Formats: sequence, structure tokens, C-alpha cells
Amino acid sequence: SERTLVLVKPDGVSRGLVGEVISRIERKGLKLAALELRVVDRATAEQHYAEHDGKPFYNDLVEFITGGPLVALVVEGPRAISAFRQLAGGTDPVEKATPGTIRGDFGLEVQFNLVHGSDSPESAEREIKLWFPAL
Ligand code: ATP
Repeated sequence: SERTLVLVKPDGVSRGLVGEVISRIERKGLKLAALELRVVDRATAEQHYAEHDGKPFYNDLVEFITGGPLVALVVEGPRAISAFRQLAGGTDPVEKATPGTIRGDFGLEVQFNLVHGSDSPESAEREIKLWFPAL
């Protein structure tokens, strides 16, 4: 079994899609190991997106992710990392995510793509430590 860090980003929360996302996670057969609604501080957001530091969209991304409440989850199950990324769909909700995925069904813009999921076992470990240090 594997764990992954999932975020329902502020756009997903403000659009009322938290239940929809959690429902898809549960229907897939994945388990919730942690769940919290919170407003993230700038330092945590910068650490979370450290790999994008210096990219043109980095500042907007940090502003956006700190701009309202989000829902952070730890999701667990066999191949949880790729299982959730399959549920989420590609980064660009129109050009990459296909219908039937969270981003493909509900997203229009790359910045407002509703969810995050860790992209590797190393990222998952780092991100779970960052968001849920007690786990
Ligand atoms: P995430 O890390 O959130 O799961 P991802 O792995 O699909 O998304 P990354 O390439 O790691 O995509 O980008 C991280 C986030 O940065 C994206 O989810 C999106 O919100 C934002 N982003 C990426 N590229 C752009 C861009 N060209 N313009 C605006 N925002 C972007």
C-alpha cells in the first residue's frame, strides 16, 4: 500500500467540489488517512511548490494557493500515487485532461485545475511531511 498527498485547491473549495473529489477518491477504492480544511501560509506554499521557483507562473501560483481555504488529504491504497493522478487527469484541463477525470470534467484553465496529487514516492513523502508532520 502507498500514500499520496492530495489537495483540493482553493478553486475546488470555492466551487463546492470537495464532496465530488472525495467521492471519486472513495469510489475508486482509495482510503482517507488524513483530511483537513485550512488556509496555508506563504512559507508552506513556497516549500510545496519549490520545484517551480523562478518559473513565470510561480508567484501567481503561490498567491492563488494561499488565497483561500483548501482541503489537504492523505490518500492511501495500492498504487495510490498513480491512481489519484489518473482520477485527476492531465495538468491542462482542456488540452491534456480527458472527460471523466476531475480536471477534464470541471476545469478550464491550467492555474485553476482544482486538485493536486503527489507525482512520485519521493514527492509524496516530502509533501506528507510538509502538510501533516504528525503522520
Ligand atoms: P500539481 O503539482 O498541482 O498536481 P501537476 O503536477 O499536474 O499539478 P505541475 O507542472 O507540477 O503540474 O504544476 C503545478 C501547478 O502549477 C499546476 O497544477 C498548475 O496549478 C500550475 N501551473 C503549471 N503550469 C502552469 C502554467 N503554465 N500557467 C499557470 N499555472 C501553471
